Amino acid sequence: MNPRSVRRLHPALRDDIGDLTTRRPLPGPDLEQLDPFLFLNHHGPQTYPPGNRGLPFGPHPHRGFETVTFILEGGLAHRDSGGHDSVIGAGGVQWMTAGSGLVHAELSPASFLRAGGRLEILQLWVNLPARLKMTPPRYVGLQQDEIPRLHAGGVTAAVIAGGWSGQQGPIAPPTDVQMAVLTFTPGSQAAFPVAPGRTVFLYVVRGALSVGGSAAPAFTLVELHDDGDAVALRAERDAVVLFGHAPPLHEPVVAHGPFVMNTREEIVQAVRDYQAGKFGTVPMP
Ligand code: FE
Repeated sequence: MNPRSVRRLHPALRDDIGDLTTRRPLPGPDLEQLDPFLFLNHHGPQTYPPGNRGLPFGPHPHRGFETVTFILEGGLAHRDSGGHDSVIGAGGVQWMTAGSGLVHAELSPASFLRAGGRLEILQLWVNLPARLKMTPPRYVGLQQDEIPRLHAGGVTAAVIAGGWSGQQGPIAPPTDVQMAVLTFTPGSQAAFPVAPGRTVFLYVVRGALSVGGSAAPAFTLVELHDDGDAVALRAERDAVVLFGHAPPLHEPVVAHGPFVMNTREEIVQAVRDYQAGKFGTVPMP
């Protein structure tokens, strides 16, 4: 295997939302997107006190892409206009295909508001191709024990989507996205085959990595050259990494807030449809 080399490191920029610690490595000043990966918010890590107000993400719409939410610490209560309602705890994942459109609320569970606690959540936006932008909305919430884990030499892969060393992830996305959360013990290393032409998404959540000889600290998105058929990672200390890959869409991206489409006209239509109530409403308890 011939490992890909680092093109550029993109440190996450701090952009807190009220009392919610937030860092965003994508998009950034030097990177609009990593086609088809559009956006990553890293909330926390932080500790909320008892009697807190929790996450600020009340009902809001999406159309044209997918939101993938990794709950590292704390919990996340999801409710949407498609009738999905679940509370996912630490180690779990929520994979929502917004497609033609829905409204959802992403809030802290009642127990967290009462007792407080640790919170760390990642949310990744994955674009959909034109042919799937109006696909029916879908939501899958998985708890930690529903996600298979592969272990090899100090590296653990929580396999979420796609095939990893023969292990199939429990999520079957509408496009060929492979996604895993990797955990490294100090000094451990792994190489993952990635076919040339695919876009790699690699974000260092915690710890520090060496990628093809380059050092990548925590809170850094690592952009790779398409110059090999593998991604080789080594951890200098305990590390957590979000790692995935997918074929690029090579389509125009027109984004407006929570809508990501191919043309201006489609954005205007999305706003109209949402305002006309076509996305439905979130049933609040
Ligand atoms: Fe959302």
